[in-house]
Amino acid sequence: MSRILLTGNNQITYTYEKHIVNVAAGTAWAKGIDMVKYKSQVDKIKAHSAGRVIKVIDYLSGTNGVPDNEGMGYGNYVMILHENNYVTLYAHLETVYVKEGIQVKQGDVLGLMGNTGSSYGAHLHFEIRKYKSEPAGNLHDVSTYEWINPTPYLESDLPKETEQKEYERVQAGSFTVKANAMRRANELKKKGFDAIIKLYNGNYRVQVGAYQNHGNAVAMMEKLKTAGYSDAYITTESGEDIAI
Ligand SMILES: [Zn+2]
Repeated sequence: MSRILLTGNNQITYTYEKHIVNVAAGTAWAKGIDMVKYKSQVDKIKAHSAGRVIKVIDYLSGTNGVPDNEGMGYGNYVMILHENNYVTLYAHLETVYVKEGIQVKQGDVLGLMGNTGSSYGAHLHFEIRKYKSEPAGNLHDVSTYEWINPTPYLESDLPKETEQKEYERVQAGSFTVKANAMRRANELKKKGFDAIIKLYNGNYRVQVGAYQNHGNAVAMMEKLKTAGYSDAYITTESGEDIAI
């Protein structure tokens, strides 16, 4: 059973981490997760959660008339706005069954998996985004939203916003000597990481991000490990800022 595929099991063909690598390399712009039904079959796609359909592009069947330039490779796609300004996005659909403006329940069928847009073989590109306000802007305007790693939510509810969550901080090393922490931080900066130093309990900790979303903290930790920092870990401890 899958929360997104009507009859199959999720088979992830391209992970969120791989999407992040491609975006960083400039060969793609969207972060999500690619999946097919078990044994590469296509399947109908279901709404992950209840919400309102805020965007439908289905130019093969003429919905909305014109090809969509904004999606840049999404092909036919559907966006649903959920509680707390979370949006789920379903791309490369063969056919879309829903219209903009309608309310959907969790599990309502949205369309058929396909190979439209920049797609090499039928699959679903699934995204979760968190907008700062109700999405109205361009799909590419990352100042208005944050991508959320969908992996932990594929089979569970979207994050609840009721309680203020503690920040999870991703550390890339802890040093007793300040100069060693500085060296590590500068090395990370050269590799494009946004490194800062925090003094906590007598240790100089190199930190490369603070997240309220657990999936995003995990994604950063994995990225650091891939870059060779096998000692990367997540903590909720903060510390005092040290100027680099
Ligand atoms: Zn994708």
